[in-house]
Amino acid sequence: MSSKTETLKSGWGIQVVVPGPEHTFTLDEEALTALLLREDIKDRAVVIISVAGAFRKGKSFLLDFFLRYLQHKYVLGESGGEWIGVEDEPLEGFKWRGGSERETTGLLLWSQPFKATLANGEKVVIFLMDTQGTFDSQSTVRDNATVFALSTLISSVQIYNLSQNIEEDDLQHLQLFTDYGQLAQESSSGRPFQRLQFLVRDWSFPYDHPYGALGGQQLLKKRLQIHEGQHPELQNLREYVTRIFDEIACFLMPHPGLKVATNPDFNGKLADISPEFKDSLKQLLPMLLAPENLVPKLIEGQKVKAKDLLLYFKTYMKVFNG
Ligand code: GDP
Ligand code: MG
Repeated sequence: MSSKTETLKSGWGIQVVVPGPEHTFTLDEEALTALLLREDIKDRAVVIISVAGAFRKGKSFLLDFFLRYLQHKYVLGESGGEWIGVEDEPLEGFKWRGGSERETTGLLLWSQPFKATLANGEKVVIFLMDTQGTFDSQSTVRDNATVFALSTLISSVQIYNLSQNIEEDDLQHLQLFTDYGQLAQESSSGRPFQRLQFLVRDWSFPYDHPYGALGGQQLLKKRLQIHEGQHPELQNLREYVTRIFDEIACFLMPHPGLKVATNPDFNGKLADISPEFKDSLKQLLPMLLAPENLVPKLIEGQKVKAKDLLLYFKTYMKVFNG
């Protein structure tokens, strides 16, 4: 076993926001405190990268590649081969697969914060956030909205993980959930949210729009276009989504191959993943995680330190449970 796997095995997803009865959520303050008040990170500005979207669409799977990248780049100091790993190593980290897993909702933070230095010399700490949402039944719309809104409020980069395309529904959900999130914002100065990264999985029209950031930009432009004759509701939705985020981007991922999608014995090893998918990972991850692309979390225009994050969690939770 390589040292990479060993370290990732020793970390775990800490469930910091836990679903309770009657659609309430509770905060695991103790776990959060232990994580955020660590002496070596508490005074650093935070970069928080979250992945949200429907259940069983490869969010946790993707995050485990983020962990490999972060481990390689910021812990091992880029020693020992390529960040993406070796052909036959199982993919470890946030639990994925979960075919029979109950559909719970909540927020998880990876137990290891990653210390990084920005291009300008500033020292920051990176947290990864996994969300568990279902998005598929009316009774849990509020739960989903809470998870999505909370993760969008807390993160500096929200990755909106979608399957196959950006549909009208996906934009409506985004509006609903972020609208809800704005409830928790005290002031309306500036844009409430930072970077929104659409991530379309299993994109199957590379001849219309190529895989990657460029194709994503083309698709996004098309989807967010406002034109004459469009229903005012659709126009408003587009205007709204564009207005509330500092920055919106989109990336088109190819299908990872049939073993990933359908084989119950698949353990995440690279050998079973399509070369196109691996190429796309190699493009996408530095775009999100390289030092020059890290986005520190801002609230009211101020950088947020790890030790201050607990307070924000508490404040936002109160709003949603109220
Ligand atoms: P999550 O519920 O969104 O976190 O999904 P998981 O990460 O647990 O993955 C659910 C299933 O989807 C697993 O069986 C993965 O092997 C598979 N999977 C991961 N990435 C992709 C992808 O890009 N496309 C497809 N079709 N399946 C994927
Ligand atoms: Mg998951």
